[in-house]
Amino acid sequence: MLDAQMVLDELLAAGLKARISGAHLSGAVGELPPSELLSVWIESEHHYDRARQIVDAFEATQQMKGADKPCHRCREMLAPQFGQCWNCGASQEER
Ligand SMILES: [Zn+2]
Repeated sequence: MLDAQMVLDELLAAGLKARISGAHLSGAVGELPPSELLSVWIESEHHYDRARQIVDAFEATQQMKGADKPCHRCREMLAPQFGQCWNCGASQEER
């Protein structure tokens, strides 16, 4: 799962005009992390291919590092190397 804001930052850093859409939904998503409902929109479709490359590269980098995930019990964000939540102690291994 990618953080839309981080993707947006990557695109803006590459000189593309982009914005996040769907931010207004973040108050209504309940259990879902808001970023799952966010989309990053490219202002010009001519930039789509370039943007796609940037996002793909970014995605690959994130997967190598392993993205933080929320604890299934208390939703504290945990780095992937933790087998146990440092906040509530719940084991993260069965997910
Ligand atoms: Zn926890």
